Amino acid sequence: MRYVYDVIIIGAGPAGCAAARTLANAGFSVGLFDKAIFPRDKTCGDALIPDAHQALKKLDLMERVTKISCPAKGMRLIGFDGSNVLIRANSACVPRLKLDALLLDSAMEAGSEFLPGHEFVGIPDEDESNYRIEFHTSANFISAQAHWILLATGADAVPIERAGLLLRAECRSFAARQYVRNERVAKDFNELAFVFDHSAKGGYGWIFPGPDAIFNIGIGFFGSAHKYCNPRRSFERFIAKLPLAQDLMRDGKIISPLKGAPLRTGLSGTRFARGGLLGIGECIGSTFPLTGEGIGKAMETGILAAESIMTQYDLGRAAVAQAYTRSINALQPKFEVYRKAEFLFNWPFLTSQLVRHAARSEYTRRKVEGMFNETDDPRFLLTLSGWMRILFANR
Ligand SMILES: Cc1cc2nc3c(=O)[nH]c(=O)nc-3n(C[C@H](O)[C@H](O)[C@H](O)COP(=O)(O)OP(=O)(O)OC[C@H]3O[C@@H](n4cnc5c(N)ncnc54)[C@H](O)[C@@H]3O)c2cc1C
Repeated sequence: MRYVYDVIIIGAGPAGCAAARTLANAGFSVGLFDKAIFPRDKTCGDALIPDAHQALKKLDLMERVTKISCPAKGMRLIGFDGSNVLIRANSACVPRLKLDALLLDSAMEAGSEFLPGHEFVGIPDEDESNYRIEFHTSANFISAQAHWILLATGADAVPIERAGLLLRAECRSFAARQYVRNERVAKDFNELAFVFDHSAKGGYGWIFPGPDAIFNIGIGFFGSAHKYCNPRRSFERFIAKLPLAQDLMRDGKIISPLKGAPLRTGLSGTRFARGGLLGIGECIGSTFPLTGEGIGKAMETGILAAESIMTQYDLGRAAVAQAYTRSINALQPKFEVYRKAEFLFNWPFLTSQLVRHAARSEYTRRKVEGMFNETDDPRFLLTLSGWMRILFANR
C-alpha cells in the first residue's frame, strides 16, 4: 500500500483533528497518523473555556460537543483567603476520551484517512515537492509521502526534535488530575472551580464537574514551581484542605488514579515552521501559561495552519510558512502577558485582592471576564495603573 497525501498530520488530538477537518473539507487529501489506538485518554482537566467554544463553532461542532459535555454556569475563582467570584464566560467540561473521539470522527467524516498505531520516527528525505515520513507500527516501519506536514504531537519533546522544530526540550509546567464520581454533589454544583491555595503554591487547584456526575479534580504548577513541586503530596494537601474537595471525597468514588503530564506553554521553545512543515497545538507551546488551558488554542492553531495552506497554496511553502508564522506571532502578546502574570501564584495577597475586588466591583469583574472571553486586553495585570484601577474601582 502507498501512503501518499497532500497533507500528513501527525497527532490526532484537538490540534491535529481541527486541521484535518478544515483541510479535508477544502478538498485536500489528508493522512492523519497517531501512535495511539483510539479512543485514547489524554490526561487533562477537560475544561472548555471561551476560546475552545469559538474554535468549535468555527469547526461547526459546538452543538455536537454540547450534547456530550456538562455546561457550567461559569468559572468560580476562589482566592487564597477564601474570597470568591463567579466569572461569566462560556465554559463546560467534557472528558477528553469523548471529546477527542468526537473530533476524530469529525475529521474522518470530512474525508481524512486515519491511521492509528503509527508512531512518527523521522523524516529521512525531503525536497522541494515532497517529504518522506517514516512511522513505526507494531509490526514494521512504513513510509508515507506528502507535500505538507502538520506536526501536532503535543508536549513530548522527542517528535518535535525529530521534525527539526525543537529549540528547548524542557516544558514549563506540570499538572495532574483524578476522576471522582459523586451524584449527591453533582446535583447542585455546576461551576468550574479554580482554587488558589498554599497547597498548590506556584499554581492552582481545580474542581470541574463533568457529565455523569464525574468530577475532574486536579492541580497544576507553572514556571519554576513545576521543578520543585511534589504533585502527589500537594494534591493530597489540596484535597484535605478545601471544604468542597472534602465534601466531594466524603462519599465520592475515586474512579481513576492521580495522573500527571507536562504542559508546553507560552508559544516558546519551538520553531513554528520549517519549509512545508508547520507545528500546531501544544507542540509549539500553544497552551496558555497562567491558566494551563490549551484545548481551544490547539484547535485554533490547527485551523490557522490549515487556512494558511488553503489561502497561500499557489504561492508555495515559504509563503505558507510566513502567513502561518504571522498568525501565530499575532497571538504572542497575550501569551507574553499570561507568562509574566504567573507571578500572581506567588503573591497570595494580590491574587486574593483581585478575587475579592472582582466579587465587589463590576469594573474588576468585567476586566477578568474580558480576559477569559478574550474581549479585553489582559495587560492590566502587569501595570501599576491597571492594579490601581482594579483595587480602587468603586463599582
Ligand atoms: C493535567 C492537565 C490538565 C489540563 N487541563 C486542561 C483543561 O482543563 N483545559 C484545557 O483547555 N487544556 C488543559 N490542558 C492542556 C491540554 O491538555 C493541551 O493543551 C491539549 O491536549 C493540546 O492538544 P494537542 O492536540 O496539541 O496535543 P495532544 O492532545 O497532546 O495530542 C497529541 C497527539 O499526538 C500523538 N502523538 C504523540 N507523539 C506521537 C508520535 N511520535 N507519533 C504519532 N503520534 C504521536 C498522541 O498520541 C496524541 O494523540 C491540561 C493538560 C494537563 C497535562
